[in-house]
Amino acid sequence: MDVDVAVIGAGAAGLSLLAALSERTAPDGRPWSVACVDPGPGAGPGRRTWCFWEPAGGRYDRAVAHSWRRLRVVGPGGAEVGADLGSLRYKMLPSDRFEELLDGWFAQCALPPLRVTAVAGEVADGHDRAVVRGRTAGGGEVRVRARWVFDSRPAAPPPARTTLLQHFRGWFLRAEHDVFDPGAVTLMDFRTPQPAHGVSFGYVLPWTARDALVEYTEFSPAPLSRAAYDAALAHYTRAVLGVRAAGVTDTEQGVIPMTDAVFPRRTGKRVFRIGAAGGATRPATGYTFAAVQRQTAGIVRRLCAGRTPLPPRPHRRRHRMMDAALLRALDTGRLDGPVYFEQLFAGNPPPRLLRFLDGTSAVREEAAVVLSARSAVLPMLRTAAELPLLPRRPAPGTP
Ligand SMILES: Cc1cc2nc3c(=O)[nH]c(=O)nc-3n(C[C@H](O)[C@H](O)[C@H](O)COP(=O)(O)OP(=O)(O)OC[C@H]3O[C@@H](n4cnc5c(N)ncnc54)[C@H](O)[C@@H]3O)c2cc1C
Repeated sequence: MDVDVAVIGAGAAGLSLLAALSERTAPDGRPWSVACVDPGPGAGPGRRTWCFWEPAGGRYDRAVAHSWRRLRVVGPGGAEVGADLGSLRYKMLPSDRFEELLDGWFAQCALPPLRVTAVAGEVADGHDRAVVRGRTAGGGEVRVRARWVFDSRPAAPPPARTTLLQHFRGWFLRAEHDVFDPGAVTLMDFRTPQPAHGVSFGYVLPWTARDALVEYTEFSPAPLSRAAYDAALAHYTRAVLGVRAAGVTDTEQGVIPMTDAVFPRRTGKRVFRIGAAGGATRPATGYTFAAVQRQTAGIVRRLCAGRTPLPPRPHRRRHRMMDAALLRALDTGRLDGPVYFEQLFAGNPPPRLLRFLDGTSAVREEAAVVLSARSAVLPMLRTAAELPLLPRRPAPGTP
């Protein structure tokens, strides 16, 4: 098999790249020939829900399950900050609906991407072509030769000054009585017992007064056992939210590394990393999906211009520096996480804050955001000053 582009992995980044390529043609006017190597359903990470924010009327809206125009944050003492998102919407995109939407698009393409159901192994870089080798479930060998290879397989984070984990478990709940406000997402609710190291909060995505995805999240050094997550969720839903006799229809659990590591974007002359493996996860928030859209759009722009398709850096240098300071300040305990996030949301209109969290804010807006969390200014300055002196170490558990 010989193609223009080989994509390894059909997750958020791989599929987004296939979608972006399907909408454009190569510089000579031909459709791009593309192959995507992925082990297929059952072998991959399973169904997930990706949330992100953008104006109403986005390109994936037909697959968006729910969207909200209000966000709220609840402080440890129960004080609530909530506001309208203006033209932005907070959107919930289930991965299976995203795949279905894109399958429909690909069916209309002059040259749909070739889906190769196999586990990719070694990628051999070359002068004119790179070769992806893989194995099918039946043991058959697969070889895909491509001008360019984009690899989204999960990769261990490189050495970092700070590595925390955003780890969570969520219940898709059906309550027996009206308890949720389906008009607003609770982004962070700090009425959860706080861990000794790090920060915890509840996250609620309600689509009716009785139906919601309720998650318990920690930013801390290690994930919990399933029983510990369930105990934290039971406490949050019953004691904090007052949900009675809820039935759990589904669950979601995950771990997202929050690290100031610098992820390589290029691993060979013709081989690049994309997605979380290519540094698309925003270190201080764990949000990745929106950065993946910018990253894949940038790759396709370069390909269509006949240039080397080095993925653009998903996050600006100054945002990565601010995130490095925040992660370290949380990790050292210098910063009180709940107070910091409460002050951020109380002191800024949500659209400004969301632009800041997305990395699309202007410097002037960033200064206003940073100064709005007054209790954090000194600990953050002190932490930022020591960062250049700190060594980068492999994340715990990394070979
Ligand atoms: C449960 C969960 C919820 C999340 N929610 C959000 C959210 O709401 N908003 C947000 O912005 N971010 C979220 N994230 C973070 C991030 O957006 C996701 O992790 C996202 O899926 C990352 O996209 P990706 O393409 O880099 O990796 P993935 O989506 O994990 O895709 C990697 C792909 O590589 C494939 N693969 C692995 N090994 C091989 C191999 N050897 N050969 C071929 N293929 C292989 C896998 O099958 C998979 O399809 C969430 C993460 C998790 C775990």
